[in-house]
Amino acid sequence: MPDAALIKKLEAAVEANWEKQVGWLQNLVRFPSVRGKEGPCQDWLAREMAARGWSVDRYTLSEVQMDHLPGFSPVMDTDYQQAVQVVGTVRAPTSTDGGQKGRSLIVQGHVDVVPPGPEEMWQFPPFDPVISGEWMNGRGAHDMKQGVCAMFFAMDALRSLGLAPASDVYVQTVTEEECTGNGALSTLARGYRADAALVPEPTGGTLTRGHVGVMWFRLRIRGVPVHVAVADTGTNAIMSAYAVLNEVYLLTAEINAKAKDHPLFAGMNNPVKFNPGVIRGGDWGSSTPAWCEVDCRIGLLEGTPLAEARQQVLDAVAKAAKGDSFLANNPPEILWNGFQADGFHLKPGSEAERVLGEVHQAVYGEKLVSHVSTGVADVRFYLNYYGIPALCYGPKGEGAYAFDERAHLPSLKKNTLSIASFIAEWCGVRGL
Ligand code: ZN
Repeated sequence: MPDAALIKKLEAAVEANWEKQVGWLQNLVRFPSVRGKEGPCQDWLAREMAARGWSVDRYTLSEVQMDHLPGFSPVMDTDYQQAVQVVGTVRAPTSTDGGQKGRSLIVQGHVDVVPPGPEEMWQFPPFDPVISGEWMNGRGAHDMKQGVCAMFFAMDALRSLGLAPASDVYVQTVTEEECTGNGALSTLARGYRADAALVPEPTGGTLTRGHVGVMWFRLRIRGVPVHVAVADTGTNAIMSAYAVLNEVYLLTAEINAKAKDHPLFAGMNNPVKFNPGVIRGGDWGSSTPAWCEVDCRIGLLEGTPLAEARQQVLDAVAKAAKGDSFLANNPPEILWNGFQADGFHLKPGSEAERVLGEVHQAVYGEKLVSHVSTGVADVRFYLNYYGIPALCYGPKGEGAYAFDERAHLPSLKKNTLSIASFIAEWCGVRGL
């Protein structure tokens, strides 16, 4: 059973640091760390780690060879020299005298956030976090800068008690979580390993039992440009794209029908979603467009090989093209650009889950419940390809990807305590 007296002391330590913690999260949310612009945010976090005496490894994805590794996602139009990753190592002494008593741990969070969209639609500014009542507003406040904040202040709570983990802890802040997962993969490619991994995505104090897989692809369609006055003599790439997208949409209905027999998704309505997310095309208002590109995201069931899922998409696109005399001879192109992410299934029974369950019970006064997600998370890398039990478990908030995203501060405080207690239980503690 967890050490109740230690949890009590940690609770007081989290409380004492709370004001500082809230200000720290506000600082973190102020960085507009959308894709490709995470550098300053990561530099700040690297300094925060160094100030705590952790050993800091700061690198960019361009420095890491990983395209040969399972789980890697290809990218076409992103500069990985700008993709900064940071790992802070808190080493326990290696001597037999009081060092490395417990089990090592990776705690990992992502700092990349999705674009805020039209800012006039926000009630609160996305990158100037306003606190209103129990909530902190801002893009990324919820997903998942509050989780990153919990990681740092869980460690701080131990430190304020004059304690440190009795085995190595790697505190990792990564990018690319929202589009490829290559940030998380890079830490593994670089050699970081531990006996468990904890990723405090905003799960509202629940454990992620499993999630779908996700693929991104770019659909590229050609057309025949003519004056719209004689539109019948040309073709319209944007209108053609609609027909193709519709066929892919029908594919998801087929997959969702099969999901009814799936061990993770049987109880869920339509776990596999398809989203055309970005569209570009055409050059002139009165020309039938000669080209159209649509960036898409489609889910797949956990357990379906990515190659099979890709083939299903290719088949759906080919079927749509066959029904169109121009596209039949000028087939659309599919470019796999971004997420090629397998699903995830954490089977019950791991020691890491048992310890988290006990700690959660002690802190929240209730049983740890699990949920299944229709999105993806970085935990898949640790468990699927490296056999590291990976717990996706974090605080509560609202409005991921939406206007007026916000973090629930009381839940952050509780979860910080829960994570601090988990670190203490899993890794053991030693005096500083
Ligand atoms: Zn997230």
